[in-house]
Amino acid sequence: MSRQLQARRTASLRKNVWVEFTQLAADYKAVNLGQGFPDFSPPKFVQDAFCKAVSGGYQMHQYTQPFGHPPLVHILAKFFGRIVGREIDPLEDVLVTVGAYQALFCTFQALIDEGDEVIIVEPFFDCYEPMVKMAGGKPVYVPLRPKVEGSAVPSSGDWVLSPEELASKFTPRTKAVVINTPNNPLGKVYKTEELQVIADLCIKHDVLCISDEVYEWLTYDGNKHVKIAGLPGMWERTVTIGSAGKTFSATGWKVGWVISSKQNIQYLKIIHQNSVYHSPTAAQEAVARGFEREYELFGTPESYFQQLPAMLHQKREKLASCLGGAGLQPVMPEGGYFMIADISSVKVDLSDQGTEGEPNDFRFVRWLTKEKGLATIPVSAFYSPEHSREFDKYIRFCFIKEDATLNAAEDILRKWSQTQ
Ligand code: PMP
Ligand code: GLN
Repeated sequence: MSRQLQARRTASLRKNVWVEFTQLAADYKAVNLGQGFPDFSPPKFVQDAFCKAVSGGYQMHQYTQPFGHPPLVHILAKFFGRIVGREIDPLEDVLVTVGAYQALFCTFQALIDEGDEVIIVEPFFDCYEPMVKMAGGKPVYVPLRPKVEGSAVPSSGDWVLSPEELASKFTPRTKAVVINTPNNPLGKVYKTEELQVIADLCIKHDVLCISDEVYEWLTYDGNKHVKIAGLPGMWERTVTIGSAGKTFSATGWKVGWVISSKQNIQYLKIIHQNSVYHSPTAAQEAVARGFEREYELFGTPESYFQQLPAMLHQKREKLASCLGGAGLQPVMPEGGYFMIADISSVKVDLSDQGTEGEPNDFRFVRWLTKEKGLATIPVSAFYSPEHSREFDKYIRFCFIKEDATLNAAEDILRKWSQTQ
């Protein structure tokens, strides 16, 4: 064809970090602490529920309700209603999506107009930027910054927003603020006071808050996940996003959801029904059964929402100690299943690992994958181009991995540190 093929909305988008680095890890058969997924099976109760669903008659293989399989929207409304302390309408306030990715896509497409500004807190899950742009919006960035440089054990809690800097980003064109707690890649779990600052600004400027909470059950050291939707005056203006992939360690099932007031959800439904229509029925059925079980066991030691973070806590400690031993300074995450580490004290020749002018962490991750067989993710991919250079001294490790995988990574790091 001689005419322009590419739609303009895709032309300014950056290269996708998952596509390059997941392929690189596979090509080099590296020990994979890169892309975020468990290398073990989901808990037996949801696997059994999935098997039961697929052998449970023809309905499980056919279309279900477009905005969410009935048992799933009912239990999501009941579960989250109990957490935020309000009645949630399963048919009006909940939308089940194809993973949190599609929840985000529907949100931006439905609520962001040409020329709207969207404040995104950095570091951010990379797809927010292209999704805002594809909706015609303009991303405006504000970084979390480490407040105590050089503390003995840096923590994600040391990374904070400046309330003044955040306030300075609001303009009459601001339509929404996007936050992610617990944060990917940093692991920060926002405290109520921090969320209150964001909420106050959203209310003052009549702005929406898009809150990506896919790692909500994964917090450590007594840190508590707080839903900004539960703060006074925030329910109507908050869009909360979740993921069964993260909740039940089943990222391939691609079940996610949005919980918000009917006045927001009604517009998301328009995008959803005209794009994917619904998420796979059997997977939704299994997730519904999983949540029903968790509703009954909530807060008890048998709950998966207690057991998974307890298991991950040990993996977090293991990874932090082996990174430290290799001269990589970890930032202890308060939540989620990623850990970032400072690579600035490592001296290696990266000149043949990428193009001139590319951020240092991209080159370092290529080197570590190809030369040492350990796959990770460059942290500057979670920043805007204008801030990426400030944060390209960090790389991200995923620790929701079998102990055998973490041991293999530890071996690589130990051998490497002996040769340094
Ligand atoms: N948000 C964040 C912060 C994530 O890390 C991810 C990656 N899984 C997603 C959204 C997308 O989730 P899903 O796999 O359910 O589409
Ligand atoms: N959310 C996962 C991560 O951050 C995977 C994202 C992806 O592969 N697209 O690693």
